[in-house]
Amino acid sequence: MEKTVCVIGAGIGGLMAGAYLAKHGYKVTVLEKATNVGGSAGWYVRKGRIFPTGATIAFGLEEQGLLRSMLNELQVDFPAEELFHPMDVVLPDRTISISKDSNVWEEELKKSFPENSQEILHFWNKLTQISDNVLAFTETRAALPIERIRELMYILKYAIKHPILLMRLARFSYYTVEDLMKKYKLENVTSFRQLLNAQLLDAIQTDVSKAALLPASLALTIYRRGSFSIQNGVGGFSKKLADRIESLGGKVLLNSPVSSVSYSMMERQWDVHSPKCTASFDIVVNNAGASFGHGTSRTRDRDLHSGAFRLDAVLKEDICQGPLKGKKLPFGYQIVPEPDNSKILREEEGPVYVTFHKSLNKDGETVSGEVIMTASIHTNPQRWFLCTKEEYIIKKEKVKNAILSEIERVMPLKEYLLYVDAGTPLTYQRFIGKAYVGGTSLTVKNTVLKPKSVRSSLPQFYIVGEQVFPGPGTLSSALSGYYASRAIMED
Ligand SMILES: Cc1cc2nc3c(=O)[nH]c(=O)nc-3n(C[C@H](O)[C@H](O)[C@H](O)COP(=O)(O)OP(=O)(O)OC[C@H]3O[C@@H](n4cnc5c(N)ncnc54)[C@H](O)[C@@H]3O)c2cc1C
Repeated sequence: MEKTVCVIGAGIGGLMAGAYLAKHGYKVTVLEKATNVGGSAGWYVRKGRIFPTGATIAFGLEEQGLLRSMLNELQVDFPAEELFHPMDVVLPDRTISISKDSNVWEEELKKSFPENSQEILHFWNKLTQISDNVLAFTETRAALPIERIRELMYILKYAIKHPILLMRLARFSYYTVEDLMKKYKLENVTSFRQLLNAQLLDAIQTDVSKAALLPASLALTIYRRGSFSIQNGVGGFSKKLADRIESLGGKVLLNSPVSSVSYSMMERQWDVHSPKCTASFDIVVNNAGASFGHGTSRTRDRDLHSGAFRLDAVLKEDICQGPLKGKKLPFGYQIVPEPDNSKILREEEGPVYVTFHKSLNKDGETVSGEVIMTASIHTNPQRWFLCTKEEYIIKKEKVKNAILSEIERVMPLKEYLLYVDAGTPLTYQRFIGKAYVGGTSLTVKNTVLKPKSVRSSLPQFYIVGEQVFPGPGTLSSALSGYYASRAIMED
């Protein structure tokens, strides 16, 4: 008889797990709290326009890329455009253009850091070499931690093929990025450190001093492998996965927040309750990032400290004809706030991450004369929870204005603004049920010493998404979904 699976949450991790399980004959029901699928890789409609809820750039979609190969297995395809100039990183004293082309990138490094260019190029070559090894390891689809003999086989497969590479990886497994910087005497080069911190905070939620070198090497070199803008947004990708689950006979129920989950020892089944579904399932996959009782999530981890403050705006398209005319524009910007700029942004963490998109109305049709801009910065949700209502309103307005003035450093924005609104961790809590977005930071502890498994300690209960191995981001969440589906089939 078909095994029944309930996936709680239609984020990328849950959708990927659901699609793989549906493809392998499981009877899948996805229960989603929000009105759309995708979670932090979804979309919402405001003022008749479509805005992304979080993710705007996708990775792993190049030919032979990890995400592409999983999507090929699932027979899912969607239009994506490769980015050759994905972003400019704006530091207080210089701007560095991130490029897909390795030669252009090397020239940019030389030009941007003339005093240390040789050391930086050597450092970057080493980083690329390490990331090649990490990618080869990831391509074997080995998941951590190793809990079953069969999983050991994935590592052995890699060890037999690449014995020297495995030894190299083992050598660097306890390194932070800063440890490697020290080898090239770069740890005190402030602007280079700011560049790496900006990229790492957005990708793996921590800075050079704590970032585990192995995953960080991939995060720092990923733009040379391929980054993509998805037509109609990353939410379109989530929607395609949801459609695939339904075409394979599964169900995706929106507006259906799960309120309780309990295990019946007698029946060996999980009873799940939500407004649109009260039923028993053989297996539960929790992608919600929320806890439904002891052992059902990783949300108690102390290193889960980050949330997002976001700003969504509609701009007059004239900005492209006026001040930006003739400029070679990137897809987005990472702007490191100036030290003497507003104290407000110093309370937040990391760079302001800004991207620009075609304006689409709620039916997905292009709106002429407009451009959508979305910006976000990391913030500690606790600071927002502790505010009174009045303090919250004032703080939100201050952070919004501080972000706008940071963006003004790259373009004269304010006169082109048609609409702007902001969201805080409380907004995320309200709409997708979690204030802490971005998962766990990829420190040495979380990556090597104690990676977080997709298996829980409960029978037939699995956890997927940015809080488990391999970590945050759409590509990693998708991988966690794949690992969970494989664990379910193997267990
Ligand atoms: C501002 C921002 C920008 C980002 N930019 C990028 C980027 O450019 N590229 C990139 O790769 N990554 C980016 N990320 C990270 C990426 O979006 C996430 O890591 C990834 O999408 C998380 O996926 P997930 O599977 O963990 O699920 P989530 O997206 O966390 O989804 C969880 C789902 O569970 C649902 N849920 C919650 N509670 C319940 C309940 N009780 N019952 C049912 N459903 C429930 C939620 O509504 C949600 O749909 C960004 C994140 C943010 C916040």
